Amino acid sequence: NVSNTLPRKGTLPLLKEEISIENIINNKLTGVVPQKFNFARDVIDHWASYEKSFRRNPLLPALYVVGDRASDERRINYTELSQLTQRLAGVFVNELGLSRRDKILISLPKCPEFFLCTLAALRAGIEFTTVTTQAVGEDFRFRIGQFQPSVVISDNVAGVDQAVDYPNCPVRFKLCAAATSSATWLNINNLIEKSKSSYDAADTNSDDPAMVFFTSGTTGHPKMVQHTNEYTLAHMTSDTNLLRLNSDDTLLCTADTGWAKTAFGFYPTFLSGAGFVVHKSAKFCPHQLLDVLKKYPITRISSAPTVYRMLLSEKADLRFKALTGVYSGGEPLNGDAFNQWKERTGLEIREGYGQSETLMLCTGHPDFPAKPGSMGLPAPEFQIAVLDDDGNPVSTNEVGHFALRIKPRHPLGLFVGYKDNPEKTAQVFAGNYYLTGDKVTRDADGYFWFVGRADDVITSAGYRIGPHEVEMVLSRHPAVLEAAVVGLPDKERLEVVKAFVVLREQYRSVDLEKLAEEIKLFTKKHTAPYKYPRVIEFRDNLPKTTTGKVQRHVLRLLSNSDRSYGCSL
Ligand code: ATP
Ligand code: MG
Repeated sequence: NVSNTLPRKGTLPLLKEEISIENIINNKLTGVVPQKFNFARDVIDHWASYEKSFRRNPLLPALYVVGDRASDERRINYTELSQLTQRLAGVFVNELGLSRRDKILISLPKCPEFFLCTLAALRAGIEFTTVTTQAVGEDFRFRIGQFQPSVVISDNVAGVDQAVDYPNCPVRFKLCAAATSSATWLNINNLIEKSKSSYDAADTNSDDPAMVFFTSGTTGHPKMVQHTNEYTLAHMTSDTNLLRLNSDDTLLCTADTGWAKTAFGFYPTFLSGAGFVVHKSAKFCPHQLLDVLKKYPITRISSAPTVYRMLLSEKADLRFKALTGVYSGGEPLNGDAFNQWKERTGLEIREGYGQSETLMLCTGHPDFPAKPGSMGLPAPEFQIAVLDDDGNPVSTNEVGHFALRIKPRHPLGLFVGYKDNPEKTAQVFAGNYYLTGDKVTRDADGYFWFVGRADDVITSAGYRIGPHEVEMVLSRHPAVLEAAVVGLPDKERLEVVKAFVVLREQYRSVDLEKLAEEIKLFTKKHTAPYKYPRVIEFRDNLPKTTTGKVQRHVLRLLSNSDRSYGCSL
């Protein structure tokens, strides 16, 4: 692969018209944004033309869908991806009569149609959003009300029908990937098959609105994050700073298609002319994932910390023939999981830190050694700072706000604002910086360490305590299945550390008061004692978002003390 033999250019001046888009793609140039950009035309069709001229093996997949049944399996190369999305874009524009003022909401499982719809929307220059398939009627109604799509694409026929049943609902067309006999729903594959027209591409500008992500809603209602076409190209940095894919690589991404995490996988994969693999399965199951990793020639995997922890709890052999790269993101991965994974697989998990709002801002960069538990080094395209509450840089190893400099130019691929929400937008674009809302430290070697969400950091008797660190210690106690830590208001100390703990099955009937004391002692022993939870509440489960992130703001509200085992302060 020629791209990996060329020197990396790092940050180049922006808006250089003389650098062709071909040059940008082939040489993996980051930091260069042409005036015009259309991901489907400039990336998918580019690799399709390489297949035609045999500069890329047409037998390699661009998209590889594997499933629990053999009949679910589908391989699509770039030529097919190009043709199918041109036809689907033709359906959107010529048959449904959609214009660039329309919007599309896509909520599909890990199936080929998800990618066909996404790429066809980009091709036609029609703004879209992706919504998790776990969404129910109410979630659809909230998102339709916010985003105002004229098309909804989903296999959740009942959920959508329930959500669109109100006066002045903007939805005019309902499309699905599954077979349907309903008169009001159209099947995507039928539409593509019967389509007489094909649509090349809208001549979109890099700064035209292209898509919206709804955030996970970890800290409140999901927000609409507005991105432009530039974002899809700027994912080149996810490749150069972390994935480093060649065209014969295949990356398996386990994330739900509704979340930005899937975008962190497929944009860089397609930009590299590599193969993107998804496992279509009714429910996540670690055994099945292991089977897939062993059966298919998957060279890279991108997943969430919980998935790696679940795989590690399996007794199975964790050596994979083809696998060379393992990536984690979305939540912190602790050093223990990193070490155990390395021991059992021989591979290091490299972390990426990103948000729906941003590209990967920090990565376990492939040119540098990994530090277990750290989220890695800042991407060279960005000016990253760790700031105190007054906006001044903090010293090494001190906790501060993780911020991204936005002057003199808006950083590459950074969202343009929260749609229809100028107040929230103004809160995060503060002066010279975009504030991520996360707290971190930077060590003497320049590595970043996640401390917690700014809202979740606990201030107790003058100490700043990141919940994450305490949770990691708690999770090492044999009785603890899961734990989440919040600050409880306290007259004397401002806040005290409270832990919500879900016990493993076999510990549920023991003397809980005694166990709470034991867990407190355990935490004091394994971390600086000022961080230990002075109050522990046992719960059957923790409130989570559909991405599986703990909602600490709900725990703060829920905080009832009758099952709490506090102690004298
Ligand atoms: P909301 O903004 O609605 O509360 P959310 O922030 O969880 O939801 P996302 O944009 O999906 O929505 O998640 C981004 C957040 O995930 C980051 O701000 C950070 O808190 C966390 N995160 C992502 N990657 C990492 C990582 N490698 N280590 C630690 N935390 C991470
Ligand atoms: Mg967020």
